[in-house]
Formats: sequence, structure tokens, C-alpha cells
Amino acid sequence: PQAGSVLLRVDKLRKQFGGLVAVNDVSFELRAGEIMGLIGPNGAGKSTTFNLVSGVLPATSGELRFAGESITGLPARQIARRGLSRTFQHVKMIADMTVLENVALGGYLRSHSGTAKAMLRFDRAEERRLFAEAESQLRRIGMQDHLHELAGNLALGPQRLMEIARALCADPSLLLLDEPAAGLRHKEKQALAAVLRQLRTEGMSILLVEHDMDFVMGLTDRIVVMEFGTKLIEGTPAEVQASPEVRAAYLGT
Ligand code: ADP
Ligand code: MG
Repeated sequence: PQAGSVLLRVDKLRKQFGGLVAVNDVSFELRAGEIMGLIGPNGAGKSTTFNLVSGVLPATSGELRFAGESITGLPARQIARRGLSRTFQHVKMIADMTVLENVALGGYLRSHSGTAKAMLRFDRAEERRLFAEAESQLRRIGMQDHLHELAGNLALGPQRLMEIARALCADPSLLLLDEPAAGLRHKEKQALAAVLRQLRTEGMSILLVEHDMDFVMGLTDRIVVMEFGTKLIEGTPAEVQASPEVRAAYLGT
């Protein structure tokens, strides 16, 4: 996608769980090449918005467009195939497999339906391709010294990077990261931010949900603030920090 063009358009997106409106007619646009932050208090609807955009949950109503085409109502697998790749709030991994195996397995699960029949089609050439791609993405984000380490032995920071490498194997144009900095030590946050900036330099677009305000303010180009399912404000980090509504609702000042 052309830098600066609208990559993702979210239009009056809505999700109700019974009587609860988790996402209340939220609209925003993400442009190619930017890092956008989605912030707001617990329960604001951030993860649900991610689940709707990535097709993990069906929307109650609203429209989604990605790279100029409607993805409204498409299942997650088809949205991923079009170039939208995500991580989850909690790291998903097999602890007693290596980092490289975990990332390669992610690619395998993505390209197959996961049935026994698909397993039988798995061949050596494909295995080599998956491992080569996994290694290349891990190197891309500076994980080359951890390739053969057991995933379960990694600190949380490298675990999060492993997840990002797995998402990158799908060759996305947009990465969705749900709370990538949560629980990380200061140094790990800095390393993560450096990786995300590098990806942006390479033309990647990133939408991230994050709790850590310093992390978001220092990294993102624009921020959408949610509260009680609705979009409170949208702007640059400086605009958001200066907003009285945000200070009242979110920062509690
Ligand atoms: P955030 O990620 O901003 O903390 P969520 O999107 O997880 O918020 O949740 C928004 C609201 O929707 C919360 O009130 C939450 O309890 C509710 N919610 C989220 N997922 C479900 C679900 N699967 N079923 C019912 N309610 C849900
Ligand atoms: Mg959440």
C-alpha cells in the first residue's frame, strides 16, 4: 500500500454482547506506514475492537475496509490472508518447543485448515520453507540469538517479540498488537519500541492496544482514545495528552 493512503477504515463499528454495548459505533482510519495506538481504561472495548477488525468476532453492525476492499463479515482466516496479522493479549506458545519451531508452527497452522488430512499433505519442502521464513522473521526483529532456545525459557520481552515474528510470517501489511508492552521491564519496552519503529521504517503499518501511556506517547503517530465502548477523541500524542476529556476520563486528573 502507498504510504499515507487509507489502509484500514473502520466505520460505525458496533458489538453488543446481549444488553452490553462493548463497541458503540466506533469509526477511525489508519493510514499506511503509521503506528496508531488504541488506548482507554479497562473494559473500554479495545480488545473487542481488535477482535472485530481481525474477524475473530462478527460485528453487530458497521463496515470494515482494508486495502480498499470490504472485509466486513469475512472470517479471520480470510482477513489474515489479505494482509492483516495480529497478536493476542496473552502469549500463545508451546513452552517445550524452540522459538524457531514455535514461529514455524504458527506459519503451518495458518496455511492449513488444521485437519488430519492437511497434516498428511505436510511435506519436507514446505517444512523447509516454513522454517526459513520463521528464521528470517526472527532475525529481522533481532531474535537471532534465541532461535534454538526453548520458548518457555524466554523472558516476557523476547516472548512478545517471538509473537511478532510469528505474525510477520504471514507477510502482513498491517500488524495488530494487543498490549505488547504489558508486564515488560523498562529495557524490554525500549527494545520492543525499537523493533516497532524499525518495522515502520520498512513500511509496516501497526495498530496497537496499550495501557502504558509513556510507551504509547513515545511511539505512536496517532491515538484513538476509547471509553465505555465509544471513541472519546482521536489525535496526535500531543493532542491527546492536552485533551481535557482524556485527562478527566482516562488519566484521572
Ligand atoms: P478492553 O480490551 O478495552 O479492556 P474489552 O473489549 O475486553 O475491553 O471489553 C469491553 C466490554 O465488553 C467489557 O465490559 C467486557 O466485559 C465485555 N466483553 C468482552 N468480551 C465479551 C464476551 N465475549 N462476552 C460478553 N462480554 C464481553
Ligand atoms: Mg483488552
